[in-house]
This record gives sequence, C-alpha cells and structure tokens, in this order.
Amino acid sequence: MLKRHRVSRILFNDKFYDYPVSLKPETIKNFGFFTTVKVGFSYLGAALHKRPETNLENFYINCFGKELYSMFFEYYTENLWGRHPSEIDASWGAQRTKGLSIVGIIKDFFGKLFKVKNRKVNTSLIEEFKYPKLGPGQLWEVTADEVKKLGGHIIMEAAVKKLHKNSDNVLTGVTYIKDGQEVTLDGDCVISSMPVKDLVAGMNDVPAEAARIAAGLPYRDYMTLGVLVPKLKLKNKTTMKTVGNIVPDCWVYVQDRRVKMGRFQIYNNWSPYMVKDLGHTVWVGLEYFVSEGDKFWNMTEQQFSDFCVKEMVKLGLIDSADEVIDTHMEKVKKAYPAYFDTYLRGC
Ligand SMILES: Cc1cc2nc3c(=O)[nH]c(=O)nc-3n(C[C@H](O)[C@H](O)[C@H](O)COP(=O)(O)OP(=O)(O)OC[C@H]3O[C@@H](n4cnc5c(N)ncnc54)[C@H](O)[C@@H]3O)c2cc1C
Repeated sequence: MLKRHRVSRILFNDKFYDYPVSLKPETIKNFGFFTTVKVGFSYLGAALHKRPETNLENFYINCFGKELYSMFFEYYTENLWGRHPSEIDASWGAQRTKGLSIVGIIKDFFGKLFKVKNRKVNTSLIEEFKYPKLGPGQLWEVTADEVKKLGGHIIMEAAVKKLHKNSDNVLTGVTYIKDGQEVTLDGDCVISSMPVKDLVAGMNDVPAEAARIAAGLPYRDYMTLGVLVPKLKLKNKTTMKTVGNIVPDCWVYVQDRRVKMGRFQIYNNWSPYMVKDLGHTVWVGLEYFVSEGDKFWNMTEQQFSDFCVKEMVKLGLIDSADEVIDTHMEKVKKAYPAYFDTYLRGC
C-alpha cells in the first residue's frame, strides 16, 4: 500500500477551499470580508436557533449555518442525489460528516496550532490514508487469491436472482444466471453483497410491509469519464510537491452551479503507478451522479465525452477540447444507496 496525503478540496467560484471547509487565512481571503462576516453571523444565528433535525437541510444548517450550507452543501447534495436536501433523511449527513461541525473545525484548528498530543481527529479531517498501488480492485484480487488458496471456488460473471429457504426459514441455497443459464446452488451459508432491493426481491414469502419498503429503496447511479490530457490549467499554489507540479488533490468537489460535474479525480495523485507517462500527462476522472435511464445514462460514449469535455473547458481545467488525448467512460448501477422515499418512511 502507498501512504497518501489526503488532499481533497472544493472548487467553488474558481477558487479552492478545503474539504471539509477549514478555518484558515486562505479561506477568509477567498471569501472576502463581506462573505466572512455573513458566514459568521449566519452560523451564530443557527447556533442560537437550532432547527429540528428532521431532514438533511436542517442538519447542515445546524452544523454550518445557512450561508455555508447554501454555498457548499445545497447544490452539491441535490446534484449528488437528484433530490433537494429538505427531502433527504438527516442520517446521511450524520454518517458523512461523522459529527463534523464548525465547532469541530475550530477545535481541530487549535489542536493543530498548539500541537495537542493524542488529539482526536474527526474522520472527515483525516490527513493520510493508505491506497493500493494499482487501485482498490487489488484488494479484491488479493482476497480472491486467498479464497482460492484455501480451496474456495469463485464463480465469476454470475448474477444471483433467487434465494431459497426451507420450512424452518433457513437459507438453503441460491439460483444464479451465468451465460444465460439458470443454475441452482445449495449452500449452508449465504453472505450477500447485493443491493438490499434486489436481495429482498429474490426471496419468497417476505412480509408485505418489508417487501414494499425494499422495493421502494432508491439508489443513485454513477457515470465517470476518464480524460487524458497533457496538463491541467490549475496552478499548484500549495507547498506540496508533485510530479509535473500539478495540483496535489486526489479528488476535487465541484460545487459550481454552472456544471453538472460533481467531482473530478486526479489519478496521478492516487498512485503514480496508474499513469503511463507521469511526467507529461494527467489522467483525470470526471464524475457524474445520474439515474439509470435518464438522459446521461442513455448518452453514447461520444455524446457523454463531448458533454464532459465542454464542462472541463467551462471550469477552466483545460483551454479547449483539442487538448484531450484519450477518454474512457464507465457506468456503475446502484453505486449509492439513497436516504429517502421508503428509506425515510420505512425506518
Ligand atoms: C466513485 C465512487 C467513489 C466512492 N468513494 C468512496 C470513498 O471515498 N469512501 C467511502 O467510504 N465510500 C466511497 N464510495 C462508496 C463505496 O464504494 C460503497 O459504499 C461500498 O463499495 C459499498 O459496499 P458494498 O459491499 O455494499 O457494495 P459494492 O462494493 O457495490 O459491492 C457489491 C458487489 O456485489 C455484486 N453483486 C451485486 N448484485 C449481485 C447479484 N445479484 N449477484 C451476484 N453479485 C452481485 C456486485 O457485482 C459487487 O461486486 C464510493 C463509491 C463510488 C461509486
């Protein structure tokens, strides 16, 4: 595993901000005096008048104040989930920010400043992590090898469709489809990684209420376009050294209302082993949160690539589409389970 610096920032109004937002002179300089005062007062207002945390909007406003919420959370959350934060359960915010708030940000700032020993670091503020040389797929390649070494047999490209149980309500096996053929496999232990919606749909005799809730669970799908360019127009103004002096971020949150792009990854910074010509090219991954069957999902690779590259130009990442050397599209169904609809009403 490689030790990585966790550098990930927000691109907002053509300026970089720490993610999550941190308290430092650069943030205040980027905001300007007027916005800083507005942010401060709006946080005070939120601290004095706590809203009931009945939805994600109220949760974020309680943590960060209305001003920061509308700058950094409102559009991004709606773009990510396809729903306004007021329609999303607050538990998603709690899980993502793990208790982070303005108070937490201030505590972390002073803890660092005064070098407090054994200070507890909020998960969202962790600065280092380990990453496999050739990407997270390596974890599963190693896992598969270990399973095989222990005598296990792995059936690939097989989709489980049904789960069987006996009269004692004990699972006895599964039916999967491989190469168009239905195969039933007996077993005494079933561990599922299927989306809960599909898992429950594959079972018989599920109580009606549980079946209804499972069937209504929403998911957000995901599309990404890998783009190979000679360089990015973004200047590395940090003190961190990188090959080719590119910005040091692994990924950047795009909170710019002019574009649909939600984030972009800079693969050079995840692992130099993943880029062939590290000194002269940059592989970026543009990320889009979509819904299966929507206009993005139905785009051809060429249409999607044209759309995304235009957004790169709009954001000032490159000057023109002519700079693009190569692209590659990937789609991921049910990438993120969502916290609304029957999740909200059922749990
Ligand atoms: C681009 C991206 C970036 C992310 N970044 C982060 C991050 O930085 N930090 C973080 O914590 N989370 C991140 N996530 C979310 C994280 O990846 C997921 O929450 C996590 O992978 C979910 O794990 P899982 O085992 O439930 O499902 P998955 O990892 O999706 O695994 C499900 C597995 O089950 C298989 N499967 C599904 N249905 C069937 C079936 N019927 N039969 C057989 N096999 C089936 C699938 O093929 C898959 O291999 C990210 C997600 C995406 C898409």
